[in-house]
Amino acid sequence: MTNDRDQSDLLIVGGGPAGIAAALWGKRLGLNPLLLEAGPQLGGQLLRSYNRSVDCPGFYGLVGADIAERLTTHLLREGIRFQVNAPVTQADCAARAVIVRGEATFSGRALVLALGARKRRLGIPGEREFAGRGVSASATRDKEKYRGQEVIIVGGGDGAFEEALMLDEAGARVTLAHRSGTFRARPLYRDRVLTHPRIRVMTHTRLVAIEGETAVERVRLEVAPPGEACRQIALPVTGVFLALGVTASTELVAGQVDCDADGYILTDRFGATSCPGVWACGDATRPLLSSLSTAFGDGATAAKAAFDWLASQSGSALTGLCLS
Ligand SMILES: Cc1cc2nc3c(=O)[nH]c(=O)nc-3n(C[C@H](O)[C@H](O)[C@H](O)COP(=O)(O)OP(=O)(O)OC[C@H]3O[C@@H](n4cnc5c(N)ncnc54)[C@H](O)[C@@H]3O)c2cc1C
Repeated sequence: MTNDRDQSDLLIVGGGPAGIAAALWGKRLGLNPLLLEAGPQLGGQLLRSYNRSVDCPGFYGLVGADIAERLTTHLLREGIRFQVNAPVTQADCAARAVIVRGEATFSGRALVLALGARKRRLGIPGEREFAGRGVSASATRDKEKYRGQEVIIVGGGDGAFEEALMLDEAGARVTLAHRSGTFRARPLYRDRVLTHPRIRVMTHTRLVAIEGETAVERVRLEVAPPGEACRQIALPVTGVFLALGVTASTELVAGQVDCDADGYILTDRFGATSCPGVWACGDATRPLLSSLSTAFGDGATAAKAAFDWLASQSGSALTGLCLS
C-alpha cells in the first residue's frame, strides 16, 4: 500500500469500547491517535444493547446508546480524531496500513485492532428479509410487542434462556428450540426454563426457514431426535429471536495475525499479536469476559503497550506522558 493520505502514531480500527479506550489512552500518552469505524456511529455492540447497565462501573442504569453517546462526547472533548462510515476493507498488518472503502489509505506507526464481534447468523431464508418485521434483534427492546403472541427463540446459551424468561414474563407464548439436547446456558437460567410450566423446549430442532407475507407468520423446523427419522414441521409464530452468540469480526486480518480456530485474535496479556507493531483488544480477542469493563481495560493496555514499543523502536522516550 502506498500514497499514504494520513499517517498517525497510533491507528485504531474499530470504534467500540475497546477502540475508544485505546484512543483515549493513546491521546493521553501523546500518540495522536486516529480511529476508524465502519458504522455511522461509535459504540460497537453498545448500539444494540437495550438493557440498562448494572455491571459497568460509572454507567449504572444507562442503555447502550447513552453510553455510546457519552464515549463519543469524551473523544470529541479530548480532540481525538475519528472517522465514522469508514469501513476498513483491506489491511496490511506488516506495513501497519489499511484502506477504507478500497480508496483512502491510512497508516500508523503502531496499529490497534479493536474489531469486536457481531451476532452469529443462521443464513436461512427469511432471516434478513424479515429483520424488524418479526425477526427481532432484541427481546429487551421488543418484548412488549409480542404480548399474547407465539414466539420462537433459537439457541442454547445464556442469551436464549434469558430471552425465553423475559418474553414469557412479558406475556408471549414461548417456544425455545435448540439443535442438540444439551445446553450451554448456566444452571440458573437452564433449570428455570426447563421446569417452566409455560415455556416449550424443543431439542434436536433446527430452524430452516422463516416465512410470511409482509411479516413473519410461521417458521419451518427440522426435528431430528437421535435414532429417529428427521421430520419437518411448520410452527405458526409472529416473533423470531435468534440467540446464537457472537462471532469475531476478524476476517480483515485473517492470515496476517495468528488467530484461534474460531477466528479470535491471539495476543499476549498486553494485546501484542504475532505481527510486530500490531495490537488487538476487546471482544476480537476472546476475552474471558465479553464486557465493557474488559474492553476498556484491554484497549487502554494495548495503547500503553504500543507506546512502550514505539519508544523502544525510536531508541528514546516519546514526548508524551510516560506512566510506568
Ligand atoms: C445485547 C448486548 C448486551 C450487552 N450487555 C452488556 C452489559 O450489560 N455489560 C457489559 O459489560 N457488556 C455488555 N455487552 C458486551 C459489550 O457490549 C461488549 O463486550 C463490548 O462492546 C466489546 O467492545 P469491543 O470494542 O471489543 O467490540 P465491539 O463493541 O464489537 O466494537 C467493534 C467495532 O469495530 C468495528 N469494526 C469491525 N470491523 C471493522 C472494519 N473492518 N473497519 C472499521 N470498523 C470495524 C465495528 O463496526 C464495531 O463498531 C453487551 C453486548 C450486547 C450485544
